[in-house]
Amino acid sequence: MITPLTQNITPNREPPDLKQYAQAGGYQGLQRAIKTLTPQEVLQEVKESNLRGRGGAGFPTGKKWSFVPMGDDAPRPKYLVANADEMEPGTFKDRLLMEGDPHQLLEGMILASYAIQAEVAYIFLRAEYRLAAQRLKKAIAEAYEMNYLGKNLLGSAFSLELHLHTSAGRYICGEETALLNALEGKRAIPRAKPPYPQVSGLWGQPTVVNNVETLCNVPHIIARGAAWYQNLSRSEDGGTKFYGASGRVKHPGAWELPMGTPIREILEEHAGGMKDGFQLRGLLPGGASTDFLTEEHLDVPMDYDSVQSAGSRLGTGTMIILDDRTCPVGMLCNLEHFFAQESCGWCTPCRDGLPWVEKILLGIEQGQGQPEDLDYLTMHTRLLGPGHTFCAHAPGAMEPLQSALKYFRADFEQHIHHQRCPFK
Ligand code: NAD
Repeated sequence: MITPLTQNITPNREPPDLKQYAQAGGYQGLQRAIKTLTPQEVLQEVKESNLRGRGGAGFPTGKKWSFVPMGDDAPRPKYLVANADEMEPGTFKDRLLMEGDPHQLLEGMILASYAIQAEVAYIFLRAEYRLAAQRLKKAIAEAYEMNYLGKNLLGSAFSLELHLHTSAGRYICGEETALLNALEGKRAIPRAKPPYPQVSGLWGQPTVVNNVETLCNVPHIIARGAAWYQNLSRSEDGGTKFYGASGRVKHPGAWELPMGTPIREILEEHAGGMKDGFQLRGLLPGGASTDFLTEEHLDVPMDYDSVQSAGSRLGTGTMIILDDRTCPVGMLCNLEHFFAQESCGWCTPCRDGLPWVEKILLGIEQGQGQPEDLDYLTMHTRLLGPGHTFCAHAPGAMEPLQSALKYFRADFEQHIHHQRCPFK
């Protein structure tokens, strides 16, 4: 199995320094690009690789870059931002990539900046990721020293400044336009889209925001070609994916596997199956803001289109497992508490609706639920659904709720009927 993203990562060890990274084939993509490829050719290679955004939404990366104005009359400066504000519950893949191989992210950022001809790049890092910050700082200094960053990279006409910025520490800062506001020193509330950041982003200038895992794929695509990358995959979407599993499985963790690896294979072969005495009841395939899938979906390939056809989203690809001894209502209460707390408060449905959802769920969990509460919850999944709020925060929060009401409805009804949680 070829694992380009994680090949240099050894758990609990210092990451490779620049020299070791280069010895393992690192910065070859950059050398190739700067010396032999035009920015358009780099973009074309990424387009042909079928790389899709790994932050959760799966937007095609090459297509995103192609919206950036190019040419002599394009607005300047242009910006590239690595979204490292990883806060999706159950998701820890970007942390492992940054702590384990920081130069890989830097090389991906330099290549992406070259493709869109950005002059300045930022890493917008989750505040709690202190070890990643420390390792990235060291890697950035090494890259400047080798002229992989700075003026006239490797003797070319291309120059790039790169800064590490620590996040304000809210979930919404991961939404790309809220992130840009935070980077500008403003309150982190999402902006209206369109215009998309590729046209009007940081300080109104063309800006690409890409997830860390997405950017980490780019050096390998440029070093070894789009066809090689596409062939790593078991689906139409190119490459590998850093999947994960948390909950009552024998070996919780994260594994780089071909894109499109079936859920069953990830759970049984890599996570070791359920812990003794526990049965699988459901799973959130890509963090908390995705719909539940159940045992009937175990053979679904973990790629964007297949998971969507099954009624959910691939999201971040890091699964949260629900077992038969955990109360689904209690789990939902916990998740909706998180989403209510993390609402930025900008739009009324999200600011007021999410605390209502949390209150109703808490009432049911504590044995004070009424039969009509299920109708209220269903109504909220519509009122806070897509098209009714300013950004994807509340609709994301409604995904686990609407699917829990479908798959675990009997649990909700039992709580209300017996006026207590049957799991306690
Ligand atoms: P989105 O679909 O609106 O956008 C995704 C990306 O595609 C953005 O960069 C956007 O600029 C671009 N895009 C979309 N449509 C475009 C168009 N017509 N023209 C140009 N560019 C376009 O999704 P989003 O609101 O940015 O993100 C939602 C996702 O984030 C969810 O899928 C969720 O799973 C994920 N998420 C991840 C984390 C994390 O920690 N990784 C946290 C919260 C949410």
